[in-house]
Amino acid sequence: MILANSVRVAFMRTAVVIVAAGSGSRAARDGEAPKQYRRLGDRPVLAHTIAAFLADPAIDSVVVAIHPDHGDLYRRTVAHLADDPRLLPPVLGGATRQSSVRAGLDALAQSPPDRVLVHDAARPFVTPAVIDRTLDGLDAADGTLAAVAIVDTLKRTDAAARIVETIPRNHVHAAQTPQGFRFAALAAAHARAAAAGRDDFTDDAAVAEWAGLDVRVVAGDPANVKLTTNADFDGAEARMTIDRFAALADVRVGTGYDVHALVPGDHVTLCGVVVPHQSRLDGHSDADVALHALTDAILGALGDGDIGAHFPPTDQRWRGCDSAVFLHDALARLARRGGMLAHVDVTIVAEAPKIGPHREAMRARLAELCACALDRVAVKATTNEKLGFVGRREGIAALATATIRLPLRTCPEREI
Ligand code: MG
Repeated sequence: MILANSVRVAFMRTAVVIVAAGSGSRAARDGEAPKQYRRLGDRPVLAHTIAAFLADPAIDSVVVAIHPDHGDLYRRTVAHLADDPRLLPPVLGGATRQSSVRAGLDALAQSPPDRVLVHDAARPFVTPAVIDRTLDGLDAADGTLAAVAIVDTLKRTDAAARIVETIPRNHVHAAQTPQGFRFAALAAAHARAAAAGRDDFTDDAAVAEWAGLDVRVVAGDPANVKLTTNADFDGAEARMTIDRFAALADVRVGTGYDVHALVPGDHVTLCGVVVPHQSRLDGHSDADVALHALTDAILGALGDGDIGAHFPPTDQRWRGCDSAVFLHDALARLARRGGMLAHVDVTIVAEAPKIGPHREAMRARLAELCACALDRVAVKATTNEKLGFVGRREGIAALATATIRLPLRTCPEREI
């Protein structure tokens, strides 16, 4: 069975058209970003939506139909995905949803996939299960539509809000996206609709039904909401925060320690901040002990070696290098594991220079380097009471702790 599935996946090419061409004219008037570009958690809504499809191994390519005025907004939204070849260049949408989808289909037609999913940009909570059901349904139909059964009784009213009809809710569904189709069938249906002068279909299932295709409902997800009102956004924000923190339940703390010798010079670099001094720290890189200790703290929390193992002092590439390079490498390892930095705490041990006047600049620089909020960063300093090598001003030491959160995964050999 596994072989059969993987063979099917290998030979079925699947593309996604994400419809993000709404102008958001009301939002623009109010000085807000259009809803598909509104921030939700750490990213715009559209970035979450694209990521949901790129995370699914069944998806080979994604094309986004954008509004002609939103080129810059879009580029900023997907800047972090620039290396993913599955995200194709955007296409410019038209005046209607239908024409925007058609622009996406036309772009895909240059190298036509077997199957295509069409999805609303404003539904960022689409799950792998809904995507899979939409695709699996195509084995038995020309088209599929994620939808949820209506549980409320439906009333049709007249202009005076008087009930004129109770609509039987048996077999009534609320349509969501994704909607899935055999690519050739949907492309032909759209071409026919355009040729017939029809541009009033509100979703692709309606285009397909009109063209006589066999379109079937598969189970959507009540949580796969289309974000429309401010209340939707408030709810989505709360949900995303709770989901994110709940998923990152593997909380770990790492420690780091480093020392560099002081030699004649005119400044030291600590936490990425240059501080004038009558000595400098000696070392292979810029000898920023604080960043080295912090890098080791993050690597320690990850259980992933130490700075010397990843950046050997024998390697000439790191001579004189800005120690932010080492910190960024540790943060990239954290990001690749799907984690986040929760807090960093750095202590600098030095007789001189005085750290106090530079503490806030150091915190701000660390927050910038770590891309985290200032209140997640602490910088402290102490002298060594003239004791030992630090007390004799022969060197500066730094200690750091880093708290990280990783996705909670059960590990096959040792169960949590
Ligand atoms: Mg060092």
